[in-house]
Amino acid sequence: MVQWIMECVTTVSYSILINGRLTNRFQARKGLRQGDPMSPYLFVLVMEYLSRTLKTLKDIPDFNFHPRCAKLNLTHICFADDLIMCCRADKISIQLMLDKFNHFSKVTGLIANLDKSSIYVAGVSQGFKDMISAYYQFNIEALPFKYLGVPLSSRKLTIQQCMPLVEKITNKIKCWTSKFLSYSGRLQLIKSVLFEMQTYWGTFLWTGNQNPSKRALISWDKICMPTSTGRLNVINFLWWNKAAICKLMWAIHTKKDALWIKWIHAVYIKKQDFNTMSTPSQACWLVRKVFDIRDWYLSIDSFANINNYCRKGQFNIQKAYTLARPQFQKVHWKALILGSTIPRHNFILWLALYHRITTVDRLEAWGIQVASGCVLCSSEKIETMAHLFFECQYSRNIWSTLLNWLGERHQIGLWEEEVVWLTKRAKNGRPRNSILEFLFAAVVYHTWTERNMRRFQGRKTETKSRIRDIVLQSK
Ligand SMILES: [Zn+2]
Repeated sequence: MVQWIMECVTTVSYSILINGRLTNRFQARKGLRQGDPMSPYLFVLVMEYLSRTLKTLKDIPDFNFHPRCAKLNLTHICFADDLIMCCRADKISIQLMLDKFNHFSKVTGLIANLDKSSIYVAGVSQGFKDMISAYYQFNIEALPFKYLGVPLSSRKLTIQQCMPLVEKITNKIKCWTSKFLSYSGRLQLIKSVLFEMQTYWGTFLWTGNQNPSKRALISWDKICMPTSTGRLNVINFLWWNKAAICKLMWAIHTKKDALWIKWIHAVYIKKQDFNTMSTPSQACWLVRKVFDIRDWYLSIDSFANINNYCRKGQFNIQKAYTLARPQFQKVHWKALILGSTIPRHNFILWLALYHRITTVDRLEAWGIQVASGCVLCSSEKIETMAHLFFECQYSRNIWSTLLNWLGERHQIGLWEEEVVWLTKRAKNGRPRNSILEFLFAAVVYHTWTERNMRRFQGRKTETKSRIRDIVLQSK
């Protein structure tokens, strides 16, 4: 084994391409070939040596563990090539620890980059800090520090500390030509990319920009409800977060074999029962949060049922999310928005089913004055949902033409009657009925689009060509 490793380490040679020609090969002084698959194994072997070296500290009577690490004999944690070492803030312990590290450096030739290394001390006098910084060449820093771009802290992060993350997302949004996306396009954007930041982006769906100016047509909570209750099923981050913390709770409950869980058991839970003990008052913010979630969970369900939230032995956040989410009544028309329609049609249909499209009567209720007559049939009738669907000659004409086209003998009624009729048909899953659903969503969408074109752009599309568009789309 050693022979193999030495073979890999000592036979490395390079050749360089200069002016299109390879130079003679020359021997490397140290290191493996670039991308040598041996590299991670060697790294692990070497770090194992460091680990063993540091573990011998506990046999030195003068060495003191960090107060929170003594129970687990913890001296260091490695994350890939990052190393955190900890001990009590006294000069002898620090010196002993650095001695061990320097010994490791001498043996392996691996030296810490002082520019990228820092000391964090807490609970000591300023004089002690000054002495440490004068004596060792390390920088003295304060928590939180960043690891993989995320601030690590023992306390709750402040909004200020989270701002870089928010800014990153904001910049992403600015890059997208979000203003040109339809409602359903923006919805897709939120669902796929931004769901973690979605509470922040509640306004984005409605206004297409980041400054809340327009009124939200439907409350964010409703958007986040499952589709079966007539909502859009966008993930609500507050509820998702609850479910995610449940996973930590589950890990502590099942005593998973991870260092952080052992640590919480050793330092806070001790011999008590995690399921019944009171929240340890001296615990850090994060641990207290987990206990809060435990209390919340126990108010709804018991630990005897915790396996219901698992899949293949792992806690499933998605399953817990359904628990965290408030329960809403199902709507009778859910089948209509589950059908296979064009997303932008579906979205407008969804708004209409909630009576949330901004017809003149709703605008007036908000104190916004506009010409009240119907622009579609040029009548003096006030533009309301009931008029548009289907008292208005324009939409009625389109809908009845399409029904005739399908050979349907159906008397067009009021909006609610149409919804009930279609829902009945939709529940019976014959292919003909899904065409009906598709056409209905299209009629609602095209009627609303035509109304907006006429009101805001002064452009008209005749009924005939609207019908032709719909029929072409349905193919
Ligand atoms: Zn009309």
